[in-house]
Amino acid sequence: MKKLIFCLFGLLLFVNAQAQKSNTKVILITLDGLRWQELFSGADSLLVSNRTYVHDTTALKSRFWKPTPQERRKALMPFVWNTLSQKGQIHGNRNLGSKVDLTNQMWFSYPGYNEILTGKADDKRVNSNDKIPNPNTTILEIAHSDERYKNKVAAFGSWDVFPFIVNEERSGVPVNAGFEIAKGDQLSEREKFLNELQPKVPSPWGTVRLDAFTHYYAIEHMKKNHPQLTYIAYGETDDFAHDGNYEAYLTSAHNTDALLKNLYDFTQQDPFYKDKTLFIITTDHGRGTQPLETWKSHGDKIKGAGQVWMILFGKGVSAHGEISSPKQLYSNQIAPTVLKALDLKPEAPNMPGKTLSLNKD
Ligand SMILES: [Zn+2]
Repeated sequence: MKKLIFCLFGLLLFVNAQAQKSNTKVILITLDGLRWQELFSGADSLLVSNRTYVHDTTALKSRFWKPTPQERRKALMPFVWNTLSQKGQIHGNRNLGSKVDLTNQMWFSYPGYNEILTGKADDKRVNSNDKIPNPNTTILEIAHSDERYKNKVAAFGSWDVFPFIVNEERSGVPVNAGFEIAKGDQLSEREKFLNELQPKVPSPWGTVRLDAFTHYYAIEHMKKNHPQLTYIAYGETDDFAHDGNYEAYLTSAHNTDALLKNLYDFTQQDPFYKDKTLFIITTDHGRGTQPLETWKSHGDKIKGAGQVWMILFGKGVSAHGEISSPKQLYSNQIAPTVLKALDLKPEAPNMPGKTLSLNKD
């Protein structure tokens, strides 16, 4: 009898654990090349009134300039600093000793995304932004190859290199990126409208679309198909920075913050995602500060471009707010953390980073 009760208890624990594990959804989000300097301190005093990088300095200052960094960052990214800072953890404010770094030494986009999505830097093979199918396996592919998550994985990106980074062809993970439209015969009214609108709203760039399209394609897909693992890659911030347009860079950071709020609000009214979703937001690389003009740039020649940041919130994440004690995290820790949340196993030697401890200091 004792044995039977013991068995039943064990079975109960097992069933409970299984139910919990398969219940977690993950939304991974990247904002291309948004500096930790703006995330934690808002508008930069050296750039916000600099006529080389800002067309209308008065207008920009009236929107984003405030006396303290705390006020400035709230003005720039109100959802992050009013809501997410209460709900989760914000890592990477080096002024307080919290550091997040890339482990790849390239410090530009494809190597950054490869590191985030595969859990390992690969400077030998992933060292350009060329449209080369990724030889490495992403967490999206690992999940999609598992029976439990088959066809429950999706990626959306503004940059047209994402189908290659995810290796859409080999992995079978659907990627809507660049100027792709929504496909299929069950398109929602909104998807039909986005498909009509996108070619009529010219992007400033040849390889990157405006983030609103990426965002709403993702939301429509999530409403309909409820992927358990979703990756959304916003791109505007990096391109406006390369253009040397600080006005547009800040406006875009502010806009992306509103898109994050919109995404979060959507998940909170959808029972599939509500209170069951782990959110991770990060960036693929930093940018320079010294000399001043290097804010536009990144890559291994730019000092500080390997410095990044990370926001964690949602299921299983303790609310520690802005991390203000010395701590070092790396971008290669994200992939094993996502796999663990989904109860998937990282292939150990392929993912050297330690799983992030979400509910401990
Ligand atoms: Zn980038």
